[in-house]
Amino acid sequence: MRLVFLGPPGAGKGTQARELAREWGVPHLATGDMLREAAATGSRLGLEARRYMDQGALVPDDVIVGLMRERLARPDAARGFIVDGFPRTIAQAEALAQLLKDHGQQLDVVIYFDVSEGELLRRLTGRRVCRACQTAYHLVFAPPTRPGVCDKCGGELYQREDDGEKPVRIRLDVYARQTSPLLDYYRQRGLLATVAGEGSIDVIRQAIRQTAGG
Ligand code: ADP
Ligand code: ADP
Ligand code: ZN
Repeated sequence: MRLVFLGPPGAGKGTQARELAREWGVPHLATGDMLREAAATGSRLGLEARRYMDQGALVPDDVIVGLMRERLARPDAARGFIVDGFPRTIAQAEALAQLLKDHGQQLDVVIYFDVSEGELLRRLTGRRVCRACQTAYHLVFAPPTRPGVCDKCGGELYQREDDGEKPVRIRLDVYARQTSPLLDYYRQRGLLATVAGEGSIDVIRQAIRQTAGG
């Protein structure tokens, strides 16, 4: 099972990927999580990436592709994966196809999360994330049992720098210009499946299971 979850910031990709990856026993490969972890450990790559991320800009393709090349080469990715937040440009999509080809693999399906802009804004501005395990919560739509504390691991919840109003506007614009062309790209290759991304988290999850054939 080799899946890509595609959609704008706040579409619910991480929320769904985290649970389904556990259910299916495959790794959840989220480039944003990987970059934030790298930044938290203070690595050079992480600190450099952070300059782009905090502004809402994309990290350069070669950095991201290098990260994914290493990640996909690890043994746990051999039997399948859910990629979340990658690819975000046509160049990244071409690189992903080549990386998989080098391992004698290809994608099974790209699941696009269809969510309206008003809903994205409501989700992003109310999102809170666990500093330790990166599980996402929402102040209103998906609150933790105890305010400010992660249900899963007890970690501290915080608001991402790039979930502020200004970076959010930039990120939605970057998505429209650089990432949304991937819809046609994957449609033309017969890989695109669309899931309605609004409504209850459980109902959406069931729709993804059906689409993925899992
Ligand atoms: P969201 O889940 O809100 O869409 P992510 O956690 O996926 O956000 O990404 C956060 C930031 O990390 C992006 O705005 C960008 O700066 C950087 N990033 C993540 N994935 C990529 C990628 N594939 N290409 C370039 N930059 C990326
Ligand atoms: P993405 O990874 O696509 O950026 P997230 O999974 O982080 O998106 O979700 C963005 C925000 O929306 C989070 O605060 C999350 O709790 C919330 N959320 C996720 N799915 C739904 C849903 N179906 N309805 C309402 N809020 C949701
Ligand atoms: Zn946690």
